[in-house]
Amino acid sequence: MMEKRPFVTKEQLDEIVKEFPTPFHLYDEKGIRENARRVKQAFSWNQGFKEYFAVKATPNPFILKLLHEEGCGCDCSSLTELMLSEACGITGSEIMFSSNATPANEYIKARELGAIINLDDITHIDFLEKTCGIPETISCRYNPGGVFKMSNGIMDNPGDAKYGFTAEQMFEGFRMLKEKGAKHFGIHAFLASNTVTNEYYPALAKVLFELAVELKEKTGADIRFINLSGGVGIPYRPDQEPNDILAIGEGVRQVYEEVLVPAGMGDVAIYTEMGRFMLGPYGGLVTTAVHQKHTYKEYIGCDACAADLMRPAIYDAYHHITVMGKEDAPCDHVYDITGSLCENSDKFAKDRALPEIEVGDLLFIHDAGAHGHAMGYNYNGKLRHAEILLREDGTAQMIRRSETPRDLFATFDFCDILKDMKYGDEG
Ligand SMILES: *Cc1c(COP(=O)(O)O)cnc(C)c1O
Repeated sequence: MMEKRPFVTKEQLDEIVKEFPTPFHLYDEKGIRENARRVKQAFSWNQGFKEYFAVKATPNPFILKLLHEEGCGCDCSSLTELMLSEACGITGSEIMFSSNATPANEYIKARELGAIINLDDITHIDFLEKTCGIPETISCRYNPGGVFKMSNGIMDNPGDAKYGFTAEQMFEGFRMLKEKGAKHFGIHAFLASNTVTNEYYPALAKVLFELAVELKEKTGADIRFINLSGGVGIPYRPDQEPNDILAIGEGVRQVYEEVLVPAGMGDVAIYTEMGRFMLGPYGGLVTTAVHQKHTYKEYIGCDACAADLMRPAIYDAYHHITVMGKEDAPCDHVYDITGSLCENSDKFAKDRALPEIEVGDLLFIHDAGAHGHAMGYNYNGKLRHAEILLREDGTAQMIRRSETPRDLFATFDFCDILKDMKYGDEG
């Protein structure tokens, strides 16, 4: 079994919590940069390769800028994600706008920024044209339907997913777009989520490359890029074998040589839109054990809750937990690790074997760097917590402050119903 160790030591964390009280999300600059460089290296065989980081995974401007320094663009799917990218100086073809059920104002903003628009549906061709015109470069999202199978079984069920054009619609859509003045085309598909196998991207690439060759033959479209989107997973469990991004890049290269090069399409750029793989392992949720409860089970109550990290509550997802300073102690206690929501699903772990936990111990909840803080919410009036970046030089930098009650109640500022609210700092 692979051992999962936090990217931070107890000594470092003890220092950090003196300045920034728990709970908070902690990110590892070194890990993020090294991983981004490996991704770039894995696809360095492809001239136009670009990773568009899926902003929804970790929508923090410091993180976006850091990834931008490593050559990444942004994959956006909402107005505010577009605004965030713009504010970070990431615009034009460095933005992929992969949305669905898209409101008109979002298309307008995407066009204004010169983003590459990736259409989710054939009816959006007319909608986009009426809203803000058809750009010269445009992409369409493909959904092959059925189930997506690989050698180790069924990966996912695209036929049941709301996304994308059918195969027939791809041909018709490309013809329509050409008539309306589009000159350059892209193809996108997202067929399986959190895949922990090196085969996913190559298998997806084969589907998309074969489609691209046919689309080019039948519609004459000038296909400039193929977007493999997200779905490359991470080993949340210690017994899972991590993906090898270099092997994945090499797998895609082989299919590229097999399918695209012989079709005279050896200049097509490969794009990715990974979120989880770029950030997941390089962020953790740091929380303090504040209570011990002994009833029908043994409970540890934390100062973080599902509002900080909802994956365990909504997907029953496994997140590894390290009790800081007890990395090598025997896991001879069994606990449910809970938050304080009035909601029984608010458990970071159930029946988890861990070292003995004392009140005051720091817990590090692993793999919370993507779809972690971002999915946070305010149920039970819980305030969302800070994000801290562990810099390469070992210092800690706050990259988002914690919410305050004022933030929570700010949406009543259109009226005076809460004008007598006591925040404790009125002076
Ligand atoms: C969520 C999403 C991604 C990122 O997915 P990961 O599993 O985090 O890699 C990429 N593209 C689109 C369109 C998405 O919706």
